[in-house]
Amino acid sequence: MARSYVRETRRRVGPKRDRIRPIIARLKAEHADAAIALRFRSPLELLVSVMLSAQTTDVNVNRVTERLFQKYSRPEDYLAVPVEELERDIYQTGFFRQKTKSIRGTMKILLEDFDGQVPRRLDDLLRLPGVARKTANVVAAELGEPQGIVVDTHVRRLSQRLGLTRQDDPVKIERDLQRIVPREDWGIVPHLLIWHGRRVCVARTPQCADCVLNDLCPSSRV
Ligand code: SF4
Repeated sequence: MARSYVRETRRRVGPKRDRIRPIIARLKAEHADAAIALRFRSPLELLVSVMLSAQTTDVNVNRVTERLFQKYSRPEDYLAVPVEELERDIYQTGFFRQKTKSIRGTMKILLEDFDGQVPRRLDDLLRLPGVARKTANVVAAELGEPQGIVVDTHVRRLSQRLGLTRQDDPVKIERDLQRIVPREDWGIVPHLLIWHGRRVCVARTPQCADCVLNDLCPSSRV
């Protein structure tokens, strides 16, 4: 894209600070059902689900956890069975050896340092084995205390297309979003972008003509 064209489209849509509130408001109206797709009934189930969701779909995780959570309800339960048994129980989510190791390591720390409870502070969550920034952000947000903004592949693509960041690295994208997204929306914004990314602003063929953001988006093709 020629530089003058990029400048022209940026001028047309205006600065991101002015656009972010209408973008969020319109996405909230458009995707009122936007929420986490993983099924869980407790903070522990949430944590395990998010850990299992790496490199697989939420639908697949839900299929596995439906049975898993009947068998394992406390941190102790994950440590009470032989490693191979837990590996078998989560096998279908893929990367089962690494995930088993992370889950067992996490359960040990929960029992030793957190009275068996899932912590809510990002720094504490990041101490758990296999819990990277994205997982920690998802868990903290779902527990009602977002301390960052989840950046996955959809959030990255949409933030770039909407001209909210020029970065490619998720940590830097998160920093850019934190500067403009109102604090009270840190938890919901990733869900809105993910759902918009799945339904409208899809990777290969964004549906710009049907997009409620097309007058606010520098990448709009209409
Ligand atoms: S206008 Fe097009 S590129 Fe921009 S957010 Fe909508 S679908 Fe995506």
